[in-house]
Amino acid sequence: MHVVWFKRDLRIEDHAPLGEAARRGVVVPLFIYEPGLWQGQDSDARHWAFARQCLEELDGRLRRLGAPLVVRSGDAAEVLRSLPVTALYAHEETGNGWTYERDRRVRKWARESGIPFTEFPANGVVRRLKTRDGWSRLWQERMRQPVTAAPARLEPHGLDEGALPPAKAAIEVQRGGERAAHALLESFLERRGERYHREMSSPLTAAESCSRLSPHLAWGTISARQVYQAVQRRRETAEGTWRQALAAFVARLHWRDHFIQKLEDEPRIEFENFVRAYDGLREEEFDAEKFERWKEGVTGFPFVDACMRMLRETGWINFRMRAMLVSFAAYDLWLHWRPVALHLARMFTDYEPGIHYSQCQMQSATTGINTVRIYNPDKQWRDQDPKSEFVRRWVPEFDDPKRYPPPLVRHDEAAKRARDRIYALRRRLEARAEAEQVRERHGSRKRPTRRRKG
Ligand SMILES: Cc1cc2nc3c(=O)[nH]c(=O)nc-3n(C[C@H](O)[C@H](O)[C@H](O)COP(=O)(O)OP(=O)(O)OC[C@H]3O[C@@H](n4cnc5c(N)ncnc54)[C@H](O)[C@@H]3O)c2cc1C
Repeated sequence: MHVVWFKRDLRIEDHAPLGEAARRGVVVPLFIYEPGLWQGQDSDARHWAFARQCLEELDGRLRRLGAPLVVRSGDAAEVLRSLPVTALYAHEETGNGWTYERDRRVRKWARESGIPFTEFPANGVVRRLKTRDGWSRLWQERMRQPVTAAPARLEPHGLDEGALPPAKAAIEVQRGGERAAHALLESFLERRGERYHREMSSPLTAAESCSRLSPHLAWGTISARQVYQAVQRRRETAEGTWRQALAAFVARLHWRDHFIQKLEDEPRIEFENFVRAYDGLREEEFDAEKFERWKEGVTGFPFVDACMRMLRETGWINFRMRAMLVSFAAYDLWLHWRPVALHLARMFTDYEPGIHYSQCQMQSATTGINTVRIYNPDKQWRDQDPKSEFVRRWVPEFDDPKRYPPPLVRHDEAAKRARDRIYALRRRLEARAEAEQVRERHGSRKRPTRRRKG
């Protein structure tokens, strides 16, 4: 029995572990529902709702090939111990601290039981990377490797199939599954993506003009390689604004793995500041009332609140608005990034630990290597929603002083105070030395691009 352990790779196309197992003999496609993982502080029912749809479709596909998905619930090592395993195959996972520890336990079990456990790279992330020099080249190589075809058929395994626990999300999540992922990619490359680079920043246009592939990439219904190769084929015939749009899009696919690589190299950044010299900057001043108002979307800043409310209701918001939400929490409200990140992790259907914690730290200025970027919520409102259509939709009471609260803080004062405190710390030598180490270990080797202010 060649067990293929499906984790965040819920597809049959471009699935190297499945391809390899199918060449060896009888395949048991396995999914383990792990209660401990789903009880985590970063977990929400919306994640399971999405994953469950992906798993239902995956089961249908595997069933048609001849071997339905086997579902078990419990601790992964215990579940594997209970199955007739000859060899185990999986993708490398750069997940949160919980999955990191679980993978160690599974590897230990495999070692002690004498069961070969083969893990395949999941994307452009390199395990046990020695240096960031040359990483981009490695990434390109990975993206250009041929896609593994789905097996033509699988031998029946005859095991009891088990069942997926029900999903109870409070919102309607994006559609899961390989079919939905490919449909999104196609509509993006044929139609929706033409003005991607121009329309990604406003929450009015981004929902349609961005690819919306993020939960699919996070749950692996499509691989980064499949997306990359489809984009490169499309670029051959691209004209006009399509060229810039597709170049901007490929850059983001690259960023994806660039960020995930940081967590792969240093799992502690899920919990600790990149630069430890920033420890203590905000922790003792955490204001629970401000945090609640931020989470509820009642800060008195209509554009900030509209973004939070859209996110809560739909499970998605565009990049710039994510950055603004964190910037507002980190600078205006002076909240430590960790509770902020956990809340957003639960809200994002596409929660991807590697991107998420790096981004949250970057927008809170605890990485030490990035420019401190404090978003002005009212300027963003003017720039991205000049007719207030977005704000009216999500915060219809915004201009009624009886129903909508006054601003929690004064932005200009709060931003100045935050900037002063961060730069005072930055100037301290110890922080500078540590930041250099972060740059050496995680920094992009490209020259920085210039960014617009505000
Ligand atoms: C504070 C903060 C937290 C974030 N947390 C997550 C997260 O948990 N999961 C997640 O997938 N993205 C996260 N992002 C990055 C980005 O906002 C989303 O990937 C993007 O909005 C998803 O929509 P899309 O698929 O339509 O993106 P597109 O613009 O169509 O981009 C295509 C893909 O490229 C990758 N990508 C895009 N932008 C970035 C970026 N800035 N950094 C790294 N990869 C990128 C994603 O995989 C995305 O699906 C975060 C950004 C911020 C500022």
